[in-house]
Amino acid sequence: MPILADYIKPPRVLTPAGFVPAGGFSYKVVTGDSWKSLAARSSVAPWDLIRFNYPNLPRDEREAVKEVNWYLQNRVGCTTLTSDFRSYHFNSLDSPGTIYLPNSVIQTEIAKQRIVRILTNSYTAGILFSAGPRLILGSYYLAVAEAVQSGRIAVKLDPSVGHMAYYDYSVPGGTARGQFRVSATTSESLIVHEATHAVFDFLKATIANNQNEAIAYIAQHVYDRRKYGPPKGRYTVSRDPADPVSEMAWQLIFDEASRLAGLAVSQTWIPIEECILLYSMLPVANSYRAKGTTVYTYDGI
Ligand SMILES: [Zn+2]
Repeated sequence: MPILADYIKPPRVLTPAGFVPAGGFSYKVVTGDSWKSLAARSSVAPWDLIRFNYPNLPRDEREAVKEVNWYLQNRVGCTTLTSDFRSYHFNSLDSPGTIYLPNSVIQTEIAKQRIVRILTNSYTAGILFSAGPRLILGSYYLAVAEAVQSGRIAVKLDPSVGHMAYYDYSVPGGTARGQFRVSATTSESLIVHEATHAVFDFLKATIANNQNEAIAYIAQHVYDRRKYGPPKGRYTVSRDPADPVSEMAWQLIFDEASRLAGLAVSQTWIPIEECILLYSMLPVANSYRAKGTTVYTYDGI
């Protein structure tokens, strides 16, 4: 049985046969490979790897999937179908069986463009709330995106951060005024969280660490609410038997950030009294104890 007719379609804009993406090296697929496994090995997201190989795919993934199957059949020479007949598996016998993987320069560029896309999408652009006197606007994230695009904020791909991310407000050497450290699997809301620290850097804010973190947590939950709607259930933090006080603080941080994000979305202004519990729990959580309520002034981006 061939691939289901609804799951394959000739490309509307064909990527020419023999196309080699800039910064790509050829790779011969073997049985057991998947876009997901090859993407992970290349520190990029699966769709970024697919679009690296076939840059003219439609933006809509449901449409793009059909064209990807056409390329797999006609260019990679895949013949092994998945059990639902909707896609192909890679196989060592595929002929020519060639795709392209990005070199490290391109991997970093892909990570950079992913950050820019997240900070300029409609979910981020529509962020608008004030926690007490601290106003957070979607347009601030556009300024951060512009700094990433122009290189004033550097992007460092660091697979060891896993789904986390970090914003370093100063970078020794070079010309960058700040730096994001991310992996291919850093979640979108974590990028918004770290970008909120970059927003305070952009504003040259003087701010206490616990308030800075609190507002970053609220912003990340606002992003998730704008993208996915209200949370389906309560997020439960992992147990920490060695440090139950920290565990309790983390649970309250997530509960409160989620509650305050609800207020941010429904009424924009979060009265400062509503923020007190979140502000006071942050220095109690193990990761933030050292910095506590230290006040510092950012130097701009
Ligand atoms: Zn943070």
